[in-house]
Amino acid sequence: MAEEFTHFITTFVPEHYAIELDINRATKTFGGHTTITGEALQTTVLIHQRGLKIGSVLVNGQPAKYHVDNTIDGIVIEVPTTGIVTFDIDYTATLTDTLMGIYPSYYEVDGIKKQVVLTQFESSAAREAFPSVDEPEAKAIFDIAIKFDEQPGETILGNMPEIDVIDGYHRFATTVRMSTYLIAFGFGELQGKTITTTSGVQVGVFATKAHAPAELDFSLDIAKRSIEFFEEYYQTPYPLPHSWQLAVPDFSFGAMENWGLVIYRESALLLDPANSSLDTKHRVATVVAHELAHQWFGDLVTMKWWDDLWLNESFANMMEYVAIDSLQPDWNIWESFQMGEVPMSLARDATDGVQSVHVEVKHPDEVNTLFDSAIVYAKGARMLVMARAMIGDAALRTGLKAYFAKHKYGNTIGEDLWTELSAASGQDVNAVMQTYLEQPGYPVVDVQVEEGQLVLTQQQFFIGAHKDSNRQWQIPLNGNYVDAAGIMTTQKLVVGDYAKLRKAAGEPFRLNIGNNSHFIVNYADDLLADIIEHADDLDDISKLQLLADMRLLAEGQQSSYAKIVPLLKRFADSESILVQQAITTIIGNLKKFVEPESSAEKRLQKLTGELSAGQVTRLGWTAKADDTNDDTRVRPLVLGAALYAENEVAVQKSHNLFAANRENLVSLPAHARALILRNEIVNYGSFELFEQLLDIYKHATDPSFKTDLSIAIPYISDNQAIEKIVALFQDNSVVKPQDLPTWYNALLGNAKGQQAAWDWARKEWDWIDEKLGGSMNYTAFVKLPANAFRTKARLTEFKAFFAPKLAQPNLTREITMGTEVIASRVELIANQAVEVNAAIAKAITE
Ligand SMILES: [Zn+2]
Repeated sequence: MAEEFTHFITTFVPEHYAIELDINRATKTFGGHTTITGEALQTTVLIHQRGLKIGSVLVNGQPAKYHVDNTIDGIVIEVPTTGIVTFDIDYTATLTDTLMGIYPSYYEVDGIKKQVVLTQFESSAAREAFPSVDEPEAKAIFDIAIKFDEQPGETILGNMPEIDVIDGYHRFATTVRMSTYLIAFGFGELQGKTITTTSGVQVGVFATKAHAPAELDFSLDIAKRSIEFFEEYYQTPYPLPHSWQLAVPDFSFGAMENWGLVIYRESALLLDPANSSLDTKHRVATVVAHELAHQWFGDLVTMKWWDDLWLNESFANMMEYVAIDSLQPDWNIWESFQMGEVPMSLARDATDGVQSVHVEVKHPDEVNTLFDSAIVYAKGARMLVMARAMIGDAALRTGLKAYFAKHKYGNTIGEDLWTELSAASGQDVNAVMQTYLEQPGYPVVDVQVEEGQLVLTQQQFFIGAHKDSNRQWQIPLNGNYVDAAGIMTTQKLVVGDYAKLRKAAGEPFRLNIGNNSHFIVNYADDLLADIIEHADDLDDISKLQLLADMRLLAEGQQSSYAKIVPLLKRFADSESILVQQAITTIIGNLKKFVEPESSAEKRLQKLTGELSAGQVTRLGWTAKADDTNDDTRVRPLVLGAALYAENEVAVQKSHNLFAANRENLVSLPAHARALILRNEIVNYGSFELFEQLLDIYKHATDPSFKTDLSIAIPYISDNQAIEKIVALFQDNSVVKPQDLPTWYNALLGNAKGQQAAWDWARKEWDWIDEKLGGSMNYTAFVKLPANAFRTKARLTEFKAFFAPKLAQPNLTREITMGTEVIASRVELIANQAVEVNAAIAKAITE
């Protein structure tokens, strides 16, 4: 394993590719011919390939001296002189089922097995399809032609429009200058719907014919309006003639922003407009907006190297909210940001060993591990939200317009963005952002009154064991007292005379108003009591923030969950989704303090029932015409709470709804469908029911219904059924590799299934490694058990199993962090369980 690895662009700068591929699904093979013209910077040129069987290499039409070096994914070619040179490379290769490179995706229509073939090249799999300098900086223009064992009625889609078919080769228009990882195509028996934007861009949504045509409508509308929104927001035209969205049955990401041909897993693009939950609509809309934000930010302007992956992802992650908030203001989509990305980033970023947002890449195998959704996506987005709050939306847009004008069709590093945002705003954005970008973790600001003075101090916040940290941040404080509203640049800040400040303000002192800065606050007891006494005056984000910060402090053992439990009833009547989500999250965390089926669990169930009872009465099981956005979103949370509480009325009501829809379960109301299915499995489950639901799963096409089934079925307690589920994990005709983490996670969450799930993963690790080792799902098999385990025995098993794999570059961080996550949970339970359970006992009505 080399210390540093060579960037191939230092040997050769490609300018133009002509690529011909001839793909045969029946034999799962393809042949290729690639011509690359560019400038040789050295007489030994390195060209990427992986898994290609090279037939011949010509340099300027003459047979070349070359050899294949698989240790560097390369072909090493000798050229006579530096300067402009043309390579002609012939090769063959196989289609694999790794969800990377060129691969088949399987499905059935009316019992007939079919497949679509598609590509996934990010981050380094273009080299599995054609020899190339497969690095984001090596932008070039591409002429692509593809032939396949074509049947009548099949369609092929590419980055650019098809111009003609010659000798069976579908030839596409020459691309603009672009990176290899954004090349894509897909073919098969597809249905599609298209529409044109006001500026003349063709927008389309495509899927297999296993789906009802109506499932394409929702995302088509969002895609069209997103393109129109971004053209206006960025003040930069969409750079290509079309924007295709293609849903496929097997995909390891949520979606991939290939330029002009975005590819999605089906659940991220297709939905039944007549029966989908609001959360499903939000998810599809934000994923579509995210990918289309990338068409400029990521595709038109691309990070120079993978260490700046955050530039792509953090930005698109913020823009999905900016866009959808503009397209659907009634959805209050920023609330989803506060309930999803914010707690996700705060939890993971508190564990020692977490990556920073900007991260060095020392080994090619590390690139795939960079896609940490909590850090590169969520924390990075939160940083940019913080920057946007600092400089305002107008300066952000001015800065972006300049950024695109200067760097279009080129590559950038983070500083290039800060330069434009600083110029547009007149503020030193870079200084604040560098402290969050380059350092892992985030600060907790302690607030106390010392000798009459209001004093703030910052230190790094940790959950679990950690080395001492001297890290400091520049923190946009956003306090509600004007003297604490600016940026904290020191370790300690004396705000002023507390009594005077308190009197003048007329309200308790608080920091991080709006919850847009990446830090949490630890108020001294008297200051916290002041806030809680006036909590009714707080807006809903502030209530969420108060509960969420207290929860994190308890996790970090700077406080205790026992302090939070008595507050829950205070907030239980709130009709806000933000507040109800905060309560739901806390209940979820309290579950770790109780043994399954113990008297302590009975008490926690009783508390949960009491907290949700009023809301369940108010909202009922079915949607009402006068529901607010909050009502629609709160309903599934409180119904879930009532079922966890084993409320007899709720359990019966759910059972009745199941019975009434027995012949057509997809028609269960989507907002409660997963809950009803799980209730049935848990309370009325049998091997027969399991088999029936599994059969329905096999034939279901509605993607969110399939997801509902996959998070419900594994909660079966029947041993025979559990054995069968485990056997299905390696049967991709039932459980697709893309869905395996969901099934595995649900079985880990079932107290009666956890042992079988964990035994399976340890026994079949070689299979997991082989099938999913190169995909985005790989680290889930470390992360998911780490999130589920709560006992010392499991910690010992986890360590024993994963310690020998620590040296594997794509697992090192996940294993280190996973071990720490379980260890800190075990310690938290040991330290707090007694007082937490006493607090729960005290909080319930006897
Ligand atoms: Zn993205």
